[in-house]
Amino acid sequence: MAINPARGAFVEALRLSRGFTQAEMARRVNVSQSTLSKVESGTDIDDAHWEELGRALGVPSSAFRAVDPGLAPVHVFHRKQRGTPKGAVNKVGAEIALMTQRLSDLLGAHPTSLRHYELEDGFITPQDIARSVRKDLGLGVEPISNLVAILEDAGAIIMRWPLESIRVDAVAAWPDESAPVILVGEHVTAERQRFTMAHELGHAVMHINEHVDEATVDQEKEADAFAGEFLIPWVALRKEWPAQPSLDALITLKQRWGISLAALIHRGHDTGLLTEDEYRNWSIELSTTGMHRREPASLPREDPTALGSAINEAIEGGASVGELAAQAHMSELEFSSTFLPKEQYS
Ligand SMILES: [Zn+2]
Repeated sequence: MAINPARGAFVEALRLSRGFTQAEMARRVNVSQSTLSKVESGTDIDDAHWEELGRALGVPSSAFRAVDPGLAPVHVFHRKQRGTPKGAVNKVGAEIALMTQRLSDLLGAHPTSLRHYELEDGFITPQDIARSVRKDLGLGVEPISNLVAILEDAGAIIMRWPLESIRVDAVAAWPDESAPVILVGEHVTAERQRFTMAHELGHAVMHINEHVDEATVDQEKEADAFAGEFLIPWVALRKEWPAQPSLDALITLKQRWGISLAALIHRGHDTGLLTEDEYRNWSIELSTTGMHRREPASLPREDPTALGSAINEAIEGGASVGELAAQAHMSELEFSSTFLPKEQYS
């Protein structure tokens, strides 16, 4: 019997994404929990059981046979809200591992102009890396008008995904020899989306090589520092920061650079433009007026388009939805609800 740990990980990811415990799943497919546990470690089972498992998990059994044993596990980073339970963390990791696999079945290896950086504490900082990535992307020190479009042009795959119930804002993975994949919570406001994506980009370029699944507190700070510098570089911030920051002046900066007031005052504080007292006063101002929940002068929402276009192109080129679903080893229904715009499949 050939052991295939990548296949086992795939089974586990499917099960977690469907919200089943191992015991529940074992009952559904009529095997003992210890058998299922072995399957999730990579043990093979007979075809009839693979069929059964496929039915219970809602995928064609070809999905299991297709998993390349050489497939490296994806490294995942999520921007979670406070108090995200462990089960949710497992589920979001499973969701993106699954999505990454499906995208690679669908699109093949996806080229990217993004690259990894080594963070060397005190020598190369997250801010240095943010400036380098800006340079790689040809952004100079200008405002980024549409971050989703910039990242898609660089080859990254971005999707909106229902993550609210598991209290995660976004999650990123970067499979070997392909492009980063970022899932952004459907619940994330336009306000927060840009910072959240920049934060995930920071994890992707700085941390994914470090082979950990969950960001440490330090890595979270590094990703935030990256995001701040990436969205509004220090040289520009220093030049444009108002001598007497009024709400109107901050809103002007917010709209020009596409960064929330909350992130802006945070950045002002981090860079010494706001004193401790000033920062505290602004924080109180934002929360007592309700502006921290609903900021004035909201930013336009940025929607991903690249993946949808690629799938459209395939369909216009003559591929049927059924064929594409088979290629991704998904049921046609799940493929449609995952990858096609709502009006196209309902
Ligand atoms: Zn993070």
